[in-house]
Amino acid sequence: MLLSLIVPCYNEEENITDFYDEVMKQEPYFSEREIRLEILYVDDGSKDQTAGKVRTLHDRDDRVRLVRFSRNFGKEAAIYAGLQKARGDLVAILDCDLQDPPALLPQMTEAILHEGYDSVATRRVTRKGEPPIRSFFARRFYHMINRMSRTEIVDGARDYRMMTRPFVEAILSLAEVNRFSKGIFSWVGFETKWLEYENIERRKGETKWSFWKLFAYAVEGIIGFSTTPLLFASFLGVLFCVLAAIFIVFIIVRKLLFGDPTSGWPSLVCIISLISGVQLFCLGIVGQYLAKTYMEVKNRPIYIVKDEL
Ligand code: UDP
Ligand code: MG
Repeated sequence: MLLSLIVPCYNEEENITDFYDEVMKQEPYFSEREIRLEILYVDDGSKDQTAGKVRTLHDRDDRVRLVRFSRNFGKEAAIYAGLQKARGDLVAILDCDLQDPPALLPQMTEAILHEGYDSVATRRVTRKGEPPIRSFFARRFYHMINRMSRTEIVDGARDYRMMTRPFVEAILSLAEVNRFSKGIFSWVGFETKWLEYENIERRKGETKWSFWKLFAYAVEGIIGFSTTPLLFASFLGVLFCVLAAIFIVFIIVRKLLFGDPTSGWPSLVCIISLISGVQLFCLGIVGQYLAKTYMEVKNRPIYIVKDEL
């Protein structure tokens, strides 16, 4: 049996070797059970010595593999590439910065081999060490997306996960360009066991996610897994039609009873600007779906490989 570990890396030169050492601490468990390991680092267009560090490891230990992208395609693309290239019967995805503790790997393997699960996922129950404003928006996001989407998106779910071959094939069959893994993992179904742990802070280097990158990711998630915003736009349209009808009746009655006083342009300005705002907002929503459809229809590859080891 072979277990593949997929490790997306973007400018992680400081963490490559530490990660390898941590994984090797778990090796006795796997060799005892005759489970072979392969560590597949996916270098997502790093500008530092990430690939060089992996090369050095590969020279020492040929279970270490490298897939190197031609530029930065994002973590989602790195995960997809990893799943395509992994040869294992079991496959796990972990971050390079040791925020996803490799010490959980034996427990995950047990759950799949002996408890009959198809996948073991993780979620962090605390967000310690994270800026409070980021945690606040993250919570709002999970609350919102779960009300809007039928696919359950678990609050605090990490991408750290182990899965069986059929599960991997199911993920790969969703070859969409706009990838939101948290949704995709849930969408495919299967039996998933959840492990919980406290947030662990990044070992070295710094996070690759700025606030705006996270915001765009959140929009991606909502657009990718729900069409409720479109329904909301239609709802606003109906609401304004009803309001307009009430106004029309009101104005006609007022004219019949009191004649036609020509005041009222300030209120008109307010109404026009409000409704134009709402219209643009709704157009924006439709535009988002159109943009995503456009990117999807182009059918570009999700990633491009420069070289491989
Ligand atoms: N990562 C990547 N491509 C990117 C950004 C990040 O492959 O464009 C990798 C990164 O090297 C790390 C993992 O994704 O192994 C998670 O990134 P990070 O730790 O920066 O995110 P956070 O844990 O702060 O959410
Ligand atoms: Mg991290």
